[in-house]
Amino acid sequence: MAKTQERPVIWLQAAGCSGCSVSVLNSVSPKIQNVLVDEVVPGQHVSLRFHPTVMAGSGEMTLEVIEETKQQSAGAYFLVVEGAVPTASGGGYGTLGERGDRELTIAEQVEDLGRKAAAVIALGTCAAFGGIPAGKPNPTGCVSVKAFFDSKGVATPVINVPGCPPHPDWFVGALASVLLTGLPKPGDLDALLRPKAFYGPLVHEHCPRRAYFDEGKFAKKLSDPGCLLELGCKGPVTHADCSLRLWNGGVNWCIGVGSPCHGCVEPGFPDVLAPLYEKLDEATLANIGASPEKGG
Ligand code: SF4
Ligand code: SF4
Repeated sequence: MAKTQERPVIWLQAAGCSGCSVSVLNSVSPKIQNVLVDEVVPGQHVSLRFHPTVMAGSGEMTLEVIEETKQQSAGAYFLVVEGAVPTASGGGYGTLGERGDRELTIAEQVEDLGRKAAAVIALGTCAAFGGIPAGKPNPTGCVSVKAFFDSKGVATPVINVPGCPPHPDWFVGALASVLLTGLPKPGDLDALLRPKAFYGPLVHEHCPRRAYFDEGKFAKKLSDPGCLLELGCKGPVTHADCSLRLWNGGVNWCIGVGSPCHGCVEPGFPDVLAPLYEKLDEATLANIGASPEKGG
């Protein structure tokens, strides 16, 4: 029988709220324990070497694990970055411990580990596009992983898995796809580096309230039946399969509980898509159905 291949994963938390970890740990099918204990795809086991929230170790010892993984598995490990990268004040707004007598910044770790990784998954809208930490006025100089890599000349492939938070299936699916078939091929990702398998359709396309939209029946308050467009729904400009996939193990989702879609997977979240509970302006509405190839 062929030996199971260990695929090391280092998971860094930069400027964020840890909500992406919480969401992904709630994976239902497969359960997160299956992701971590079993083979994610036949013959391949994810070896989660470092995760600030769930690992048992702490301090110096865990930094050694990062170093060890970097040395022993250069070019083979995967780096998951959750949160945006703080760049102001020499990266001093995000640190991961100390090296000698100086602070080790998240920014330098993302750069160093990113350079030697097989691929990087930018998990959540903060990592993928800057998200809330990069919202105005952004005093910490937060940027997305891709923008940070571009500024440092890091060419390692990045897969963006946005969402505030991201659906666990989007992360597990993106990881499983890389393990199964290798790095994304041309056409697998959209222009914003999101896997088309999950971020292809507009929320609006398969929304159960779509018939109301087509008939011009709009909710006037949150508990009303009717399309939520006038209450700020961004479903018409948001590329995600939430309306088909649903959340919490297929139980419900944002619009299902009467909330407008806030467009949490898009690069304009939150600044461009705010105010969240106000109707999209006419110029944005004119782009309903625009493909992400045109920039979302
Ligand atoms: S605007 Fe929002 S609530 Fe209305 S049909 Fe589209 S996605 Fe559904
Ligand atoms: S429905 Fe909209 S706001 Fe809700 S998770 Fe999906 S993309 Fe984000």
